[in-house]
Amino acid sequence: MAASTTSWFARWKSCGKVSGVSVPPLPDAVDVVIVGAGIMGLATAYHLAKEHPRRRILVLDAGYLCGGASGRNGGGVRAQWSSEANVTLMRESLAMCKEFAHEHRINTWFRQGGYLFLARDDKRAQELTQSVELQRRLGLGTELVDGVEAKRIVPQLEPRGVLAASFNGGDAVVFPWPFVWGYAEGARALGVSIHTFCRVHAVETSGGAVSGVVTEHGSVRAPVVVNACGAYSPELARSIGVDLPTKPHRHEICASEPLKPFLGPLVAELGNGLYFSQSTRGEIVGGIGNPKTPEGTSQASSIRFLALYSRALITACPALSSLKIQRQWAGLYDLSPDHAPVVGPVDERPGFYLVSGFMGHGFMMAPAVGKRLARLLATGETPAPFDAWAHRRFKLGTTLSEAMIIG
Ligand SMILES: Cc1cc2nc3c(=O)[nH]c(=O)nc-3n(C[C@H](O)[C@H](O)[C@H](O)COP(=O)(O)OP(=O)(O)OC[C@H]3O[C@@H](n4cnc5c(N)ncnc54)[C@H](O)[C@@H]3O)c2cc1C
Repeated sequence: MAASTTSWFARWKSCGKVSGVSVPPLPDAVDVVIVGAGIMGLATAYHLAKEHPRRRILVLDAGYLCGGASGRNGGGVRAQWSSEANVTLMRESLAMCKEFAHEHRINTWFRQGGYLFLARDDKRAQELTQSVELQRRLGLGTELVDGVEAKRIVPQLEPRGVLAASFNGGDAVVFPWPFVWGYAEGARALGVSIHTFCRVHAVETSGGAVSGVVTEHGSVRAPVVVNACGAYSPELARSIGVDLPTKPHRHEICASEPLKPFLGPLVAELGNGLYFSQSTRGEIVGGIGNPKTPEGTSQASSIRFLALYSRALITACPALSSLKIQRQWAGLYDLSPDHAPVVGPVDERPGFYLVSGFMGHGFMMAPAVGKRLARLLATGETPAPFDAWAHRRFKLGTTLSEAMIIG
């Protein structure tokens, strides 16, 4: 009786009926397994299949598409950064976001209203000034303005206390979900297999090199595994003995009732991490950094966030003092110790690749990063800025810094 129960259970599992979710059988072996079907994993799969075909690519996700940070973010896409590498990367990514709707035949609600950054203390005003100088040297049309001029860009803004502001009209806001769906559909059409509700328990090795993955629905052999697990990346890395020093960190966000369109740019404050924009449906979508949020994978919503956000929002934009919040939710940042991503191969584990540590800006970077990572996987060539973003920098002590971080 016990034996027949076991074999019935094994058959039931192998035909994929788990918790009412139909899971197609996994292949025995592929060329590349990408763990995580967020924007990073899917962009990488899509570009690998499109630009470097003839590889068997499998994408596995523990949950559903848009279940991770890629389905929970604010959709901000900007080229305003403080380092040449990030400005260059993000100019390319912005252009790819703009083209995405056309390429993937899906509406992305791409709205190029610009980003207006505000600095309220001397240190940040100085950093902002230097960043604008760099951006202009690199050919961006960013303007450095004072509080009064910032109010000309957003008339509802309270200019008192704003020491410097920067505006780049080319920055944009999108609705994130169509990017996830577009990449997934595009990848599938090119032959990529995407399995949702299939958690990867561990990466397997043979002689120190990657040999496959063990999932909740069986094992798959592969010489290359990409860790695109977002805030869960350190967990998967640990399964193969790799210390990835990024940490999961909850970030809360909310959307208001729809208002008549009035707000052109996304407004962001460098000090407290406040940001807000108006969606094409009229909602004010925004969030704020909360340094007191402990590290961890909780995605709960809090009253404290609402208090912090509304206080900062009303200070920046008093006209919004009677705004009604309709929805709030949270997602996880994959927080990197030096605020820079961790991307590329891991020296001590041949075949194991990272695309982690993107904090509050991975969505906007994914198109350009996915394309570059695909090239690295296909050719072994390390594109800029992956050398600087390498995992080994933590051992070498060559960490980075970036001043234009939100949240
Ligand atoms: C509230 C909020 C606002 C943000 N705003 C912006 C913004 O305006 N602009 C911007 O550019 N970025 C923003 N971000 C950051 C951005 O969303 C992330 O950097 C980006 O989505 C990360 O993508 P990802 O694919 O690495 O991770 P995710 O989208 O989190 O995807 C990781 C996937 O891996 C899967 N997974 C994890 N572990 C396993 C496992 N063991 N086996 C199988 N699958 C697994 C998960 O289910 C998940 O689907 C924001 C983030 C949050 C939370």
